[in-house]
Amino acid sequence: MFTLRRSLPAIALLLSLISRAQVQPCIDVRTARKNNGAGQGVYDFNNKWTPGTTLQVSFINGTDWQKSEVKQYAPEWSQYANVKFQFLAQGTGDIRVSFDKPGSYSFIGVDAKNRLTTEETMNLGWINTSRTEAQLKSVILHEFGHTLGLLHEHMNPMSNIKWNKPVVYAYYLQYDGWDKDMVDKQVFERYSVNMTNKSYDPKSIMHYPIPASFTLDGYSVGENDDLSDNDKKLIGELYPFNKEFPVENKTTLWSKLQDLNIEYNVTENGQLGMRIKQNFLIYNAQSRKCILAVYFYNADDGKALIDHNGIQASADGKVAAFTTFTPGYQNTQYNNLSVFMPYDELELGNGSFRLKCYVALFDPDLKVITSSGYQYFTFSQGISSKEVKVETKFSDAAQQIEITPIFTIEGAKGITCHAVAYFYDDNGVPLKDLNNLYATRDGTVSSTVDFTPGYPTTVYNNNQADFTINLPYPELHLSKGNYRLEYKVVLFDDKWNKIVSSSLFNFTFTQN
Ligand SMILES: [Zn+2]
Repeated sequence: MFTLRRSLPAIALLLSLISRAQVQPCIDVRTARKNNGAGQGVYDFNNKWTPGTTLQVSFINGTDWQKSEVKQYAPEWSQYANVKFQFLAQGTGDIRVSFDKPGSYSFIGVDAKNRLTTEETMNLGWINTSRTEAQLKSVILHEFGHTLGLLHEHMNPMSNIKWNKPVVYAYYLQYDGWDKDMVDKQVFERYSVNMTNKSYDPKSIMHYPIPASFTLDGYSVGENDDLSDNDKKLIGELYPFNKEFPVENKTTLWSKLQDLNIEYNVTENGQLGMRIKQNFLIYNAQSRKCILAVYFYNADDGKALIDHNGIQASADGKVAAFTTFTPGYQNTQYNNLSVFMPYDELELGNGSFRLKCYVALFDPDLKVITSSGYQYFTFSQGISSKEVKVETKFSDAAQQIEITPIFTIEGAKGITCHAVAYFYDDNGVPLKDLNNLYATRDGTVSSTVDFTPGYPTTVYNNNQADFTINLPYPELHLSKGNYRLEYKVVLFDDKWNKIVSSSLFNFTFTQN
């Protein structure tokens, strides 16, 4: 365990290691987001640009060499994403890069549009000749990843990094502009959903380097200096390459999809849901009745959501929403043609679900004209937690079992929940309580702790604020001998509805 005496030399050692490794704390800049705070809905969404976009990049200042480094490395993203960067020699771009501010940071995706056009949307404070090419490439790819909408991978809710917080605070507080709150927000906080939309990827260019001394268990992440396989896959899913469209075609019906906007947590006809709004140009479709449809998938396994009640479904029984439209002109521009999807019709139970949807246009013969890339989002309703792990200590000094549950709980901010540990013999038969001190109502040996999550998504991962479930050895009520026992931890909401259960764990116990 961590003690103060051991921590002091650890910090000194760490600082010298870091100055060589050049850990680069990058700040991601997020503008305020809507969060309705209700028990149901979508809390976060990607900030991506429309696939196929060419983003104009201008430089507010910088030397020719600094600019040439950016031009050399940033376009690597375009090999895997259907988005291009066009570097302007003069004028004001969508992305405006400065080099003269302290640190490195970037606005996330389309948040850059909210920035005054006279101000930078990205600062690259470390582009100088004291860095290796690999380090320059690393920071440029990382910041342009933010520009495309990617977030910090170490803040992936699934990362479960056991930070040694005093050491990490001490390290980051030496940087200008960093205070405790900044460290909380940029390092320790988890995104309220997995906005990276994939499992945790320690090789991601979007991950901070983590020296082993930053963690309680020696976990570390090196200085990633190129796109990982998952980075390439994810950015390709967010910005898929479109099929080829005919450029000059006077007879066939075709369409060019433009901006897609989704409004979450809106009400229509008394139902809570999401409104998908698509801009597009459609050619050669005058007076022909076409269809705009939206299909919904589970983003974890790629499977279509299945309709059970026939209310919002495609012909083949998948969850879908659609509307028809009949263009009035040979070439018709549609702005915000919208489709509403009630959340109830996603037909998902309680929990948190990572979903994706895409838009497709059909001609009057139900042939696909074109389809969009996926839009990712997370839908939650009720209180949910996917998995409970445990760390368990047998404290002979305190004569008790100390179980630390490790889990992420969503939708339970301010709600008093219960964590219960149950104990069984090795045949799975509940141990019988004898004195009604540590027991369930039906007399099984157990121990209960109440906890009240402080955030919409709260991570309990054995850091300082977390709790343990203790059971004094005598409360097992065992006579002398050696036992193989089992236990599990179950989380309940305030009304004692089960949220999630851990698996069963074994241990051996000797009663003297
Ligand atoms: Zn960053």
